[in-house]
Amino acid sequence: MKLNELKLTNPYLTLSPECYDKVAPTPLHNPYLIHANEDVAKILEIDTEELYTDDFVKLLNGEYKAEGSEPFAMCYAGHQFGHFVPRLGDGRAINIGTIEKYHLQLKGAGMTEYSRSGDGRAVLRSSIREYLMSEAMHGLKIPTTMCLGLIGSEHDVRRESVETGAIVCRVSSSWVRFGTFEYYASQGMFEELKALADYVIEESFPHIKGKPDPYALLFNEVMVLTSRLMAQWMSVGFNHGVMNTDNMSIAGLTIDYGPYAFLDDFRHDNVCNHTDVDGRYSYTNQPQVAKWNLQRLMQALSPLTTIEKMEKNLLIYDKIYIRYLHYYMCKKLGFEGTVEGDPELIDDMYDMLETLHVDYTLFMRMLSHYEHKGERKVLLATGLYHEPMNAWLDRYDERIQYIDKTVRKKQMLSNNPKYVLKNYMLQEAIDAAESGDFSLVSDLFKIAQNPFEEYPEFQRWAEATPKAFRNQRLSCSS
Ligand code: AMP
Ligand code: MG
Repeated sequence: MKLNELKLTNPYLTLSPECYDKVAPTPLHNPYLIHANEDVAKILEIDTEELYTDDFVKLLNGEYKAEGSEPFAMCYAGHQFGHFVPRLGDGRAINIGTIEKYHLQLKGAGMTEYSRSGDGRAVLRSSIREYLMSEAMHGLKIPTTMCLGLIGSEHDVRRESVETGAIVCRVSSSWVRFGTFEYYASQGMFEELKALADYVIEESFPHIKGKPDPYALLFNEVMVLTSRLMAQWMSVGFNHGVMNTDNMSIAGLTIDYGPYAFLDDFRHDNVCNHTDVDGRYSYTNQPQVAKWNLQRLMQALSPLTTIEKMEKNLLIYDKIYIRYLHYYMCKKLGFEGTVEGDPELIDDMYDMLETLHVDYTLFMRMLSHYEHKGERKVLLATGLYHEPMNAWLDRYDERIQYIDKTVRKKQMLSNNPKYVLKNYMLQEAIDAAESGDFSLVSDLFKIAQNPFEEYPEFQRWAEATPKAFRNQRLSCSS
């Protein structure tokens, strides 16, 4: 499809006008393309050549109004660091319309009714992080919002210093957040709340439509998807950093990439957000924070169904989460399924990696190549002390003795990425981009797309993080 053949719809606008602000994007000065995502374009059935035209830059800059587009920003509330903020909303993201089931949104496209004291802009560094990381999560097969393209500009945006304004065109099957429900419930707008729930069922959970007590079922669906997402984040060593309820997707997607991090050295209490002084959103807290967030969602949904039903659903959250975690970890460890003793083996591995200051991704990838006792040298070299790792490897040897070597290796190599986008790598790409060189953005995009592949030319991105850059914290504007 050519861009001039695009026909956008706006299903969200069928909801009450209280749910959104109809607002046009404010374009950036002198925009230019930094990167386009050809795979996402294919999903949207946009021709690849169209991505390299001026009209595409204009589309991302909010200057090209596709047929049917009626831009708007969405209203929501949210618990931020445990405190309820009654009105947030898309302060800098503007929806431009829907293609099939995918909603296109321009992040950094100017002010909306919900901008509060913000300028409605996004800077180059945070936009590169969102663009690359959503692709990396997609490459890791973890549910996420995606990006169609990224533009830079000659538009100055004031942060601690003057930075470059940028826009990412984000694409998702849902932009509804836990906080969207919290908004209507807290305002006592129960008609709007019900309409929103019906909209979400239609959009993300059509299989429960028409069933008895659909809102309790809706909660159950969100609970299960959230527990699975947490297990996926934990298994890959992802720390989101700002798990406020306005950053929790109702469709169980990874959403709103800020000061996130992949673990460098394995560390349970890793905190990646520099403003998170109490470590509320530490790596290890994520599954329980998600449960706390689900409790907020449960309260917001309570005018629509009995709270007892939802409470009962939530009682099994821990069990489901653990089951998913073990499922993903067993895949990574090369096991066919979970047997007695596996949970302890997994926990002891985490403790060992933490004690020995071992790079999580590197260790798991090396373990994928590990065959038998005689080949421990490379693995041992990743740790400072050999003894504890030897003791754990003895137990691992015993566990894998009857598993077919070739099958195990194949399974492990497709479940333990060779590359994850660590913050030091992104920072290198950002530094280069800020001086006009976008080649590292392209390189990192390539490894993000297929993180299980080996690229000899990118070997340097598959090593342990240089010591000086390990487990650092980033600011919220990242
Ligand atoms: P975040 O921490 O990025 O999820 O943002 C929290 C809230 O602040 C959301 O409602 C955002 O839309 C809003 N926000 C963040 N940055 C800006 C900005 N530069 N201008 C306007 N609103 C913003
Ligand atoms: Mg947000």
